Amino acid sequence: MDIISDIKEMRVRSEKARNSGLSIAFVPTMGYLHEGHLSLLREGRERCDLLILSIFVNPTQFAPSEDLDRYPKDFQRDRDLAEKAGVDWIFCPKAEEVYPADFVTYVDVTGELTNVLEGASRPGHFRGVATVVTKLFNIIRPHIAVFGQKDFQQLAIIQRMVDDLNLDVEIVCKPIVRETDGLAMSSRNVYLSAKERQQSLAIFETLCNVSSVVRSGERSAQAILRLACGRLAKEKDLVIDYVKCCDPVSLHEVEKIDSDTVMLVAVKIGKTRLIDNHILCQEVQIQ
Ligand code: AMP
Repeated sequence: MDIISDIKEMRVRSEKARNSGLSIAFVPTMGYLHEGHLSLLREGRERCDLLILSIFVNPTQFAPSEDLDRYPKDFQRDRDLAEKAGVDWIFCPKAEEVYPADFVTYVDVTGELTNVLEGASRPGHFRGVATVVTKLFNIIRPHIAVFGQKDFQQLAIIQRMVDDLNLDVEIVCKPIVRETDGLAMSSRNVYLSAKERQQSLAIFETLCNVSSVVRSGERSAQAILRLACGRLAKEKDLVIDYVKCCDPVSLHEVEKIDSDTVMLVAVKIGKTRLIDNHILCQEVQIQ
């Protein structure tokens, strides 16, 4: 496994691989890998000849008040996990090279997809995400890029950007990987104290409750949201940012739960912000 930090070297290597007929799978991450990331890597490994993982904590997607400086890092551990997952190349560019001092060009997916949910709570976040993903796609030129359903809105925005800009890459989505007790895996889970970790289980419990109530026939989004907020509010240190039932493509809020409605949740527990989601109305049980 090779580790590449130079943008030009990455571009040249990737272009050579593409020209020699190899298919390229790309998994962008901010590192501190967990089983969720590894599931994306396994998908890429299965589908393509060459598997590229990027590890880059992207400064433009963090607001000044957010956790850029304390975002967890362990390159040695990431490297071992990546190697075991069959990664061919890790691309870990330097922030100064990705965003030189004279950098002024951003990719902005406008409109309702980016104004709501995470976009409303974290202004500028998706501009940073769309910009860095476009840059990484341009440098690597992968055939497929694998993302997690965990960041549901991010996935919808990236798919829209790929469609709108005619980018030549297939976006692949993998389901949310959870801890055995149901908490969605996230690099940020390490921030949680034992007590906060316990309280965070309310998120999964809420998604499970709501899911089973919908399966037994409830179709009113208002009733479902009342139920969800009631359960979450029982946790003393948990502050609800949003709980919404949305159309999975437009992310418009719905009044009636339909097949494919997605429930999206964001909460703050102590200093940690957690997000999760689940497609309601599916026959399959939430895992
Ligand atoms: P991050 O390193 O948090 O930026 O995430 C990199 C990629 O991993 C994104 O596509 C995420 O959606 C995905 N991811 C993060 N957590 C999970 C999870 N628990 N299950 C599946 N994919 C995940």
